[in-house]
Amino acid sequence: MDELVSLCKRRGFLFQSNDIYGGIKGLYDYGPMGVELKNNLKQSWWQSMVYERDDTEGLDASILSAPVVLKHSGHEDTFTDPLVDCKSCKSRWRADQLMEGSKCPNCKSEDLTDPRPFNLMFKTAIGPVDDGSSFAYLRPETCQQIFTNFKNILDSTSRTVPFGIAQMGKAFRNEITPRNFIFRVREFEQMELEFFVKPGTDDEWHEYWINKRIEWWVNQGIKKENLKKIEVEKNELAHYSKRTVDINYVFPHGEEELEGVANRTDFDLGSHTKNQNDFKITSEVMKNSSSTTKLAVQDLEEKKWYIPYVIEPSAGVDRGVLALLNEAYREENVDKDNKRILLSLKPHLSPIKAAVIPLKKNNEELVNLSKEIKSNLQKLGLGRVVLENSGNIGKNYRRHDEIGTPICLTVDFETLEDKSVTVRDRDTMKQERVAVENLSEYYKKYFN
Ligand code: ATP
Repeated sequence: MDELVSLCKRRGFLFQSNDIYGGIKGLYDYGPMGVELKNNLKQSWWQSMVYERDDTEGLDASILSAPVVLKHSGHEDTFTDPLVDCKSCKSRWRADQLMEGSKCPNCKSEDLTDPRPFNLMFKTAIGPVDDGSSFAYLRPETCQQIFTNFKNILDSTSRTVPFGIAQMGKAFRNEITPRNFIFRVREFEQMELEFFVKPGTDDEWHEYWINKRIEWWVNQGIKKENLKKIEVEKNELAHYSKRTVDINYVFPHGEEELEGVANRTDFDLGSHTKNQNDFKITSEVMKNSSSTTKLAVQDLEEKKWYIPYVIEPSAGVDRGVLALLNEAYREENVDKDNKRILLSLKPHLSPIKAAVIPLKKNNEELVNLSKEIKSNLQKLGLGRVVLENSGNIGKNYRRHDEIGTPICLTVDFETLEDKSVTVRDRDTMKQERVAVENLSEYYKKYFN
């Protein structure tokens, strides 16, 4: 973990947020390389969840959420962690995460309070008067607005069950003890799909999504043996869940949840629906919703309205970034005196797709040709391409190995004669000459 944290800072993936004022615990900023990696991961998820499917739609809803939504979702009452105070040093801890039984991890005192529920939601005032009467929550998960938009999306598309709504975006949780770098933070991003199905078909769809999601993570570059399917114990299930399977990953600090795949039944649509009593809702819903909308669909064969069940694969973007960095990180001996660090990321995730490097800094002919090559590759729209006009080829290779750039293209004096460049591969360090006129084809083939 220390090596990853150090690489992330050195090469501009992640910085402690508000760093110059001492930082705030549990908040991180994505730097120039981090933002590209994170966007590429999200884009890959969107590609597989929306573009490659014929049964899903996308959504980007507001982060600020009305308290009534989070009342009916159950979050106001149950979205809590057990909090204990150390009476000796005044520190606060999550009771279920104390390593040494009932000892304070800070001062080792055993003089702790009894655990009490601590609600993890952040509140903020809405409107110009902050008298506590008008407030909103920063959403603790992205999915509630998917449920509240269920009818809008049905009415504006021609979807019928089974179908899904996908959303990616920020979520906020006032974690008692944020820790392990970006694993447990207070502001993070989720990638969530709510897949609506007919009750009775839910178990089968649940299995489908568990396998689909493991397959997707493997396609992002995570070794299958580092992913574990964990059945959440009945007594640990969230209030809405009939069954949840966590996809755990072996993080540098230990094995923990990367994604959860839950069968949320008809709990959420049931809780938010108008005239709940008109439906046979199987889950324990929050009664008396003041919703103005019936969140149900019609069974055309049986001519009856019903509330669909929902299967939810919910993944953390930041935990995904951490897992992928961990998988890709390598240290290698180049020869007996030299070592290199490389990030062997899958090319579609690499922050920089290619670096174009003129052999001699500021040499007009070499730099102009490099600029032209860079611009042509950039126009292909497969991600960021950079020009490296610093003159030190060895240093450039080392930097690009460390940020995971799959190929470096060197423009040298021979290029002016034979109209070809040296292409160096990150993983094998093999070099080959490719004609400038064939570069676009070579590049497209490489990344597609
Ligand atoms: P945990 O048990 O680790 O607190 P959770 O079960 O509360 O996680 P979910 O509510 O299922 O998490 O959220 C779905 C996903 O969102 C998680 O699998 C995780 O990847 C991500 N996530 C949840 N909380 C955090 C957090 N504090 N920091 C970063 N990612 C998070």
